[in-house]
Amino acid sequence: MARRRKLYEGKAKVLFKGPEPGTLVQYFKDDATAFNAKKKGTITGKGVLNNRISEYLMTRISEIGVPTHLIRRLNMREQLVREVEIIPIEAVVRNIAAGSISKRLGIKEGTVLPRSVVEYYYKSDPLDDPMITEEHITCFGWATPHELDEIFAMSVRINDFLCGLFAGIGIRLVDFKLEYGRFFENDEMRIILADEISPDSCRLWDSNTNEKMDKDRFRRDLGKVEEGYQEVARRLGIWHDSTTEDKPRRKKATN
Ligand code: UDP
Repeated sequence: MARRRKLYEGKAKVLFKGPEPGTLVQYFKDDATAFNAKKKGTITGKGVLNNRISEYLMTRISEIGVPTHLIRRLNMREQLVREVEIIPIEAVVRNIAAGSISKRLGIKEGTVLPRSVVEYYYKSDPLDDPMITEEHITCFGWATPHELDEIFAMSVRINDFLCGLFAGIGIRLVDFKLEYGRFFENDEMRIILADEISPDSCRLWDSNTNEKMDKDRFRRDLGKVEEGYQEVARRLGIWHDSTTEDKPRRKKATN
């Protein structure tokens, strides 16, 4: 990766120029930040886990017909993705009150919402990602009304699908954040899912104990952060205690 051209370095990922035009390499770091980078740390092995988890979830999502930027995972920390023009909006989908909605509206954490809620935030570090309305998005041209309709419909669809997927492995999908981009192909433009879906961008609670298995373990100093991420990957069936660099699972000895 040393000789690749770095295009952008974010808090948890680095983007490099890809091997072909229109592609990028997305590298997952172990760095963790919270509260708009006011809290910083490292979670050993996080990049490897998020790469695998995001690959798995994006693949499942593309199988239900929602287009994503993922082309394929390249190695432990990198994936090849389609280059998109990022729409400067974060779509947050919530099923259960936690984090900022609990603080803002005084709803007790853990309250199941009467229905799923989609919120939008403007991606801006200097402004601390302020919450915005659809009116702001179309007024300032961050997305057209048609694009926004598509973003909303895709977010609801992804939420329904992921709620079921996680429920099947004993996990409650409390909330999560999605990012989208414009993908240009043969003079046509499509909105596709970009960025990542991982315990960095989702709240995931154990269905029986409500134990947190996501970045809140880091944000709130709960300890065992890597273990939480590992448990998510283990339940998804993509992580085994012996998992190391792309090593195939050892075959069971016969006799
Ligand atoms: N989230 C994220 N990136 C952000 C802000 C939020 O991935 O910049 C995710 C967060 O992990 C949670 C959901 O979006 O799963 C809702 O976050 P919330 O608005 O409660 O913000 P918080 O104050 O917890 O960051």
